[in-house]
Amino acid sequence: MALPAGEQVAPRECDRNGTAMAAVGGGVSIRKVSKVYDPEGARVVALYECSVEIAPGEFVALVGPSGCGKSTLLNILAGFDTLTSGEIYLNGKLLASVNRPLQPGPDRVVVFQHGALFPWKTVLENVMYGPLRQKAMTAEEAEKKAIDLLQRCGGLDRVATSYPTELSSGMQRRVEIIRALMNEPQVLLLDEPFRAMDTVSKTTMHQHLLEMYRMSRRTIVFITHDLEEAIYLADTAIVMTTRPGTVKKTLAVNLPRPRIPEMMSSREYLDLKRQAAEGVHEEARKAFERGEREQA
Ligand code: ADP
Repeated sequence: MALPAGEQVAPRECDRNGTAMAAVGGGVSIRKVSKVYDPEGARVVALYECSVEIAPGEFVALVGPSGCGKSTLLNILAGFDTLTSGEIYLNGKLLASVNRPLQPGPDRVVVFQHGALFPWKTVLENVMYGPLRQKAMTAEEAEKKAIDLLQRCGGLDRVATSYPTELSSGMQRRVEIIRALMNEPQVLLLDEPFRAMDTVSKTTMHQHLLEMYRMSRRTIVFITHDLEEAIYLADTAIVMTTRPGTVKKTLAVNLPRPRIPEMMSSREYLDLKRQAAEGVHEEARKAFERGEREQA
């Protein structure tokens, strides 16, 4: 679970026999990170002294009302944006600070809400793209690994020669996650990847993602405004405050893995959902009241 700065826990993921598996994802330490946007002097404080500790191989969901800074934090982690103050460490090494702007890198890969597959490339070519571009693998190695990952992620090797537009949106999203995993990132950053999906497709995607998580043992930071999704998927659900965003509540999700949909009616799950909902609604109310005041 997310812990006070400096502490780490052993990953809780187990294999199908219940044996603990070593995480291959990185530990992330976000320390008092603030972000001020200043478009033409408007000064929007998006994040204020936000601190989160993520253990290697942990699945963390960030939840909060719209505009609370979730994407800002994810973009900073990805290296798409700079921070105004604070520091971010990966496996104990300084990754980003004011004096050390972070660049995007294959150790932190983002999967966005809106698909980003190359439509002119086949599924296989899309999946092989990252390591080939970085010259991290030969074409032969990349193809072997891509086929293996596609096959293990729900038999997607059968669509290896298809083009993205020939696939359902759920399949496209799975291919994107596989493409991200090809880079063997320390951290997989998922920005509301299932937002546009209907409930049934979302439920299917959750099972696929959980299987990919079990298989890859990467650290995952998952952004969502869907509390049920956050609790069902994560080891730790972090409820953020309204802007300026910081941690309001940290909920350790002690539901066993593998997660199954029946768990959503368990007392533990419902209790966590209630706690998360209280936090989010309180913050949404504050945001609403502030909006009213600003308009008055
Ligand atoms: P969330 O992902 O939780 O919906 P965001 O991180 O997108 O929230 O945004 C947090 C706040 O920062 C919002 O008030 C948003 O309007 C503001 N913001 C985000 N990006 C920019 C930007 N590039 N310039 C100015 N303000 C921004």
